Amino acid sequence: MKIPKGFRYAGVPCGLKPNRRDLALVVSDVPAAAAGVFTVNRAAAAPIVDARDRVPAEGMRAILANSGNANALTGPGGLDDVSVLRGAVADALGIQKRAVLTASTGVIGARLPAMKVVTALPALVEQLGDHAELAAEAIMTTDTRPKMSAREVVLGGKSATLSAICKGSGMVAPQLATVMCLVATDAAVTPKVLQEALRRAVDRTFNMVTVDGEMSTNDCVLLLANGLAGNARIAEPGPDLEIFEAALTDLCGEMSRAVAADGEGATKLLEVVVTGAPGPEAARDCALSIASSPLVKSALFGADPNWGRILATVGARAGSRGWPIDPYKAKVALQGVRVYGGGGPVEFDRDALQMRLREPRVDLLVELADGDARATAWGCDLSYDYVKINADYASMIVQRPDGGVAKEEHVAKYSPAFKRTLLAEALKYIAAFSGQVAVIKYGGAAMVKDSLKEAFAEDVTLLKRVGLKPVVVHGGALEINKTLERLGERSEFVDGLRVTDATSLPVVEMVLTGKVNQELVALLNARDAGAVGVSGKDGRLLKARKIQHESGRDLGQVGEVVEVNRDFLRMLLKSSYIPVISPIGITEDGGGLSINADDVAAAVAVALGAKKLIYLTDVPGILESFPDGELVRQQTTADLLRRVAAGAVTGGMKYKAQAIVRALEGGVERVHVLDGRVPHTVIAELFTDRGVGSLVYR
Ligand code: ADP
Ligand code: MG
Repeated sequence: MKIPKGFRYAGVPCGLKPNRRDLALVVSDVPAAAAGVFTVNRAAAAPIVDARDRVPAEGMRAILANSGNANALTGPGGLDDVSVLRGAVADALGIQKRAVLTASTGVIGARLPAMKVVTALPALVEQLGDHAELAAEAIMTTDTRPKMSAREVVLGGKSATLSAICKGSGMVAPQLATVMCLVATDAAVTPKVLQEALRRAVDRTFNMVTVDGEMSTNDCVLLLANGLAGNARIAEPGPDLEIFEAALTDLCGEMSRAVAADGEGATKLLEVVVTGAPGPEAARDCALSIASSPLVKSALFGADPNWGRILATVGARAGSRGWPIDPYKAKVALQGVRVYGGGGPVEFDRDALQMRLREPRVDLLVELADGDARATAWGCDLSYDYVKINADYASMIVQRPDGGVAKEEHVAKYSPAFKRTLLAEALKYIAAFSGQVAVIKYGGAAMVKDSLKEAFAEDVTLLKRVGLKPVVVHGGALEINKTLERLGERSEFVDGLRVTDATSLPVVEMVLTGKVNQELVALLNARDAGAVGVSGKDGRLLKARKIQHESGRDLGQVGEVVEVNRDFLRMLLKSSYIPVISPIGITEDGGGLSINADDVAAAVAVALGAKKLIYLTDVPGILESFPDGELVRQQTTADLLRRVAAGAVTGGMKYKAQAIVRALEGGVERVHVLDGRVPHTVIAELFTDRGVGSLVYR
């Protein structure tokens, strides 16, 4: 982007947001004329209160802007924080405090941790240069992309540049000057004329944008003009002002459309043009009302050429505001296709128009027959995601002890670019895995903690949605221990294997098949996953025989899988069900045996010819030694057997290792041992290049 002479930009992370740029600085090397337009919200944020009385003015040098914290409704301390920041920027740049403006955007009501900003200032100042894109990134909130642009004009033979960085997204409606937009120009203009030009440009652009009809506490457009272009200073109306103002309006218009197109949850940009209105106010009112009507906006999301909603909105405004408008005489066109006119509906090719309404930009034209005023407004469609973003927003924001704010959700903090790479990566795997069986052993903390349970159910449901055939085998050691304890019985383990005597077997069955299994099935089916709970007894799914421990200890009613009823599982998978298997085996004579779920998962994976078998456990994977060894990211069957023989893999993991070896020998290609304490670990393993946990292969 072309940067005006004498301006420098920087953008760094200062910790207001986790892992993202959140602090921007725009500096003019020489004193600049400044103008500003601000939100009319009475709950205006402290930086707005501070700045709005100080412009228009001469002698401005810098604008410090942050995202992540709005510094709004934070009490009298809010203005103190602004003052601290202005002083610190002045010191860092060696300029006067009154030459600094600030702007903030982000969460309302949390005190701005000014020290975080102050601490980051040296790095910010150090970076100053032609980094407009970094500054644009630093002011983003729920924007999905940075917004910036520039214009070049010739003023009295001298070429001048105007550049803008901008953020928008939610709480965008007219009457609040706008979203945050910082404009810099090297044109020479007096503050008074600059202010008037900016006011008119904003009225025709930012004030005609609506995303959700909400009015923010923080919106502002700030404009600095440092005169380094060397043009004769514009001090009154004339050809130079016309050229300058046209470029400024055009630039603000582009930013406004970018804001509308990137509205929260928006899938398309809407441009509404109203002509033939009885006056400019009526034209603006009708255009904005159409662009902000929830009914029009949701019809737009659904690509529905619902002109009735458009004319109903016009009629409502005419009636309630008293505009002398006759909606019956209007003409309406969508994407240039006339849908209403001549006093009634017009025949049109509905299918063809619906196709065109799926385009990323929709043009809506209402030609009134009541005058000659016109107005243009911009908006976007209203999608499911708008609600999702705004319903989750507050609950996802947590304030940390150090004053910063953080989002709970993991992916939310990554940059849009990173998310795109991740998505592209995932799609590659999704295509490769389609139709494959993946057996997942579900155990450990992932079975106990509610948020992990939810995440696991989400993951399994997603696997099925993208074409994989998941089969879940669950354990339940913790639940069994708890229940036995409650019944006054103690659990005894030999090498990670539970000793199950005749009295505890019914309890084990009750907990595994009756409780754990059914809970998991319910969790999955709440997401419409099509889960079917089965124990090894159902359809003789897991034929088993009693085992002895190698030490000779009797383990009681504990067995191993002899044969899996493959046809039964195939039948379920063929009908798109997700089998959820509890690790209870059935003996020749119909008795029950408790089986280690690791063994069941391996046997099921072999029987189904699965390529992937995944174990969720409570450690990061198979470690070089327990508990302090490094994670072994990849190893062959032989490596693993060597580690077991060397005594580096013991307890429950040793039993798992034996099951893993059996699975690999039985034809499974890859076995993963993953940390079930990390949410969405299954998805991370399957769909990204960043392997997590341990992989064992032949
Ligand atoms: P799960 O519920 O996943 O079956 P287990 O307790 O049966 O859990 O098996 C995992 C346990 O194995 C670990 O928590 C750890 O105590 C033990 N272990 C022993 N050696 C190792 C090793 N080398 N790497 C990882 N875990 C090990
Ligand atoms: Mg175990």
